[in-house]
Amino acid sequence: MSTVAEPIDLPLPVVGSLSPSRAADFKSCPLLYRFRAVDKLPERPSLDALRGTLVHAVLERLFGLPRADRTLPAAAGLVEPLWQELREAAPPGAELFADDADGSAQAGWLESARELLASYFTLEDPTRIEPAAREELVEVVLDGGLRLRGYVDRLDVAPTGEIRVVDYKTGSAPREAFEAKALFQMKFYALVLWRTRGVVPRQLRLLYLRDREALTYTPEAEELRRFERTLHAIWAAISKARLTGDFRPSPSRLCDWCDHQALCPAFGGTPPPYPPQSDGTEREGPAFGGTPPPYPPPPQ
Ligand code: SF4
Repeated sequence: MSTVAEPIDLPLPVVGSLSPSRAADFKSCPLLYRFRAVDKLPERPSLDALRGTLVHAVLERLFGLPRADRTLPAAAGLVEPLWQELREAAPPGAELFADDADGSAQAGWLESARELLASYFTLEDPTRIEPAAREELVEVVLDGGLRLRGYVDRLDVAPTGEIRVVDYKTGSAPREAFEAKALFQMKFYALVLWRTRGVVPRQLRLLYLRDREALTYTPEAEELRRFERTLHAIWAAISKARLTGDFRPSPSRLCDWCDHQALCPAFGGTPPPYPPQSDGTEREGPAFGGTPPPYPPPPQ
């Protein structure tokens, strides 16, 4: 009697990885993508970014407390201990307080983190929310082998199965400069969740703590299908640029926040030779490159 072998689900071969940040970089300026994802050039540490990391850490820890204990005093009380924990991990920017002999600059900076947390409490009541996940890595490999991955600040799942994706924004850049990027990032997460859970998230919610504003968006399946095609197109363009080394500068208002003007032809600079010298780290994708961004991602 012959037996028929069970089909085996083989994992799709991964041809490359995209994070929302790097995909958005390439979309806004291919040369910026190159500097960050290929050359991996260092960028100036920023106290704003560091404060974002701290506030994200406090909110993540706050939701680990019993619901009744998630109060503003509790959140404010987490700021100093979590800052100590962060300092020990030496995140970029921690050295910026090295010359702060009397500690006043650091005290003012910690106070500004507490102010952002106070703003958070004007937008949500955390005692009424039970997140399904916090600081969650979400990833999927699409048909064709492109892996999408990123970290979601918070996922709320209703008893009916409806999903809400929540992202905290603490940055100081003007809204118009990064709002489109934020929505791009949220659609990215929505697509990954749809492809992994089979449910289109009901709501994408951005909480702008500095402005005390919430932006909510309801994605549609057809829109996410189009977005998936956009990501494939971005990856195809990245793959071609990696093979040819042709990463063009695309000047825009974002140049004001770019750390690499000195190497950018749009500002009279010359990029380093391409491809860069191998640093021995394993990379994936055509030519090379494609490793995910460091964690935690720089908050915006
Ligand atoms: S300065 Fe502007 S054009 Fe040049 S790499 Fe940076 S973002 Fe791109």
